[in-house]
Amino acid sequence: MRSHIRSGSMGNARRRLAACAAVFSLAVAGGVVAAAPATAAPTQAVTTTAPAAVAQTAVPTTANPLPSVDPVGDPANLSVLVNKSRPLNPVSYAPGDLVNARGSGQYLRAEAAAWLNGLFQGAADAGTGGLAVVSGYRSYAQQQQVYSYYVSIYGQAQADLISARPGHSEHQTGLAVDVGNANGSCGLSTCFGDTAAGIWVAANAHRYGFIVRYPNGYTNVTGYSYEPWHLRYVGVDLATEMKRRGFPTMEQYFAGNPTAYASITSGADLVAADSSGRLLRYPAHGGGGYGIPSVIGSNWHGLKQAFVVDWDADGVYDILAQWDNGTLGLFKGWPGGAFSTQIVVGTGDWDKMTITVGKWSAAQGYPGIVGYFPDGGLRYYPNTSGRALSYRVDIGSGWAGMGLTMADWNGDGANDILAITTSGHLLSYPGNGGGGFAGLPATVGSGWGTMKALVPSFGLSGPGTRSITAQTVDGYLVDYALGVGVWGAQRQVGNGWNGMKLFR
Ligand SMILES: [Zn+2]
Repeated sequence: MRSHIRSGSMGNARRRLAACAAVFSLAVAGGVVAAAPATAAPTQAVTTTAPAAVAQTAVPTTANPLPSVDPVGDPANLSVLVNKSRPLNPVSYAPGDLVNARGSGQYLRAEAAAWLNGLFQGAADAGTGGLAVVSGYRSYAQQQQVYSYYVSIYGQAQADLISARPGHSEHQTGLAVDVGNANGSCGLSTCFGDTAAGIWVAANAHRYGFIVRYPNGYTNVTGYSYEPWHLRYVGVDLATEMKRRGFPTMEQYFAGNPTAYASITSGADLVAADSSGRLLRYPAHGGGGYGIPSVIGSNWHGLKQAFVVDWDADGVYDILAQWDNGTLGLFKGWPGGAFSTQIVVGTGDWDKMTITVGKWSAAQGYPGIVGYFPDGGLRYYPNTSGRALSYRVDIGSGWAGMGLTMADWNGDGANDILAITTSGHLLSYPGNGGGGFAGLPATVGSGWGTMKALVPSFGLSGPGTRSITAQTVDGYLVDYALGVGVWGAQRQVGNGWNGMKLFR
């Protein structure tokens, strides 16, 4: 495991800020060129593994952070959070206002049963074929029987994925109901989610105060596999708020951040591939350093370069990978953790390009790509859909051999291009926020020829802080604080990074 220096030690990091004459002229804006890169097509080329659970310690910078809410523990409260780590208290709790729901012989608390009537009416009115009550309240003793039954059939590990231990079941609150199609098809089966009634329920349950408690893709958040039939009554206010704010689960709602379980949660996290192809995330802890890394992927071989970026602007960080085989691939980050399989956003000669990724034009809601082929012609590839690239724009020439990083050096709100020249000077080319340049470059450093990678960082030393984290050729990580057009303090934040492919 790579070690990290968390002190403010300067180590052998040298000061690299000496002024120097500009050696490159301003790149010239050009016209639109219509050669569109290949469009997206999913492939299975690379897979990622599910990450280990990682506590959120960093300040998210793109995830629209919201204040956390203390989880409700009162079992009689309609918002009570019950899951594998939060049993009912007391575990023998039994509600006092159970009623026979729709005459089904299954019981729910009175308010939940009343709103269930509306839900069933709505589903029927929508022409879905209607719903049926399958299961409602279960007492501690009944849950003990159910759980023991599943353990006897499937073993404990599988039973825990599909059934709650006694005292840990939402059914014991009287607020959970399993529903199915009125015709009996797809009972307690995931195919319910694909039926007209299941689709309608997922889209409309919140209007009646219910949520689909165990949605698809959130097993590592809820602890349960997908259960489109298991509805939990939380009241119209909370159910609607969760829908509006984009919280798929109660766990994420109470964490205050719908992306708290994503594999990359902060613009200050470092992501890197090691020599064995493992993808590692080093979580920024908000105090200027990193926590214990977790493995968030495997088989990341053949990588020329990769970038951490919210490519589709959904508030969750994605990975854009530039492969040695010329493919440019997107791995969409999921709010509940892990990534999609690769979505190809470019094919051909992307391995021959030197690129940087970021918001280059305010006209696009998504980050794009600025880069050059060995001929030195600088191009801007807008990303107008959050998926594939659109036509390219030529924006400069004479860039051969430059190392590129996109960052807002002068603090005017528009990204600039930081370029390391072949003589090791660092130049800042001011962007105009509209896809082009705004003026002459400034020399902002020298001696940067020993830098292997520059990573723009957001929030490493606390909310609102900006910096450039640099990986030196001798394996050190040095963080350079960014002011407005000036450097702030620099300090060593890691060593032993030789052989690591640092994502930018
Ligand atoms: Zn259930």
